[in-house]
Amino acid sequence: MTGATHILAAAALYQRGGLKTPYLFVFAFLSHFLLDAVPHFDMELQWNYIPVACAGAYLLIVGKWQGDYKVLIAGLLGALPDIFLVLQPGSNFSVFHNLFHFKKLYPVSKTLLTAEMAFLIICVITLLYKKHRVLK
Ligand SMILES: [Zn+2]
Repeated sequence: MTGATHILAAAALYQRGGLKTPYLFVFAFLSHFLLDAVPHFDMELQWNYIPVACAGAYLLIVGKWQGDYKVLIAGLLGALPDIFLVLQPGSNFSVFHNLFHFKKLYPVSKTLLTAEMAFLIICVITLLYKKHRVLK
């Protein structure tokens, strides 16, 4: 998955999760492994920088608009496993990460990238709605 997809999916989960914040942060982090398990077209790292910057800027706008910058933390938690992977390739965490990652045993169609972009757009739209409030 692209970094932007991880970030926006985790943020959307936080936004609409309906649980208390600490649980939502845990699920935002765990969402990374679930998304990586889905067959997908992986882009080269350098193609991720601009979409990730755009996702971060979008979450800044959403956070300011809704008065809740924790949506940024959730987004970061969604990308954190890949950040570790880039910073410490070959570490135990990288091995753990790769256990969950989709195994590319055949040529992956770029159609999957289109499906991922559709999912990403759904996340962007989901983030336009006010945060789901937890009932006490
Ligand atoms: Zn990953």
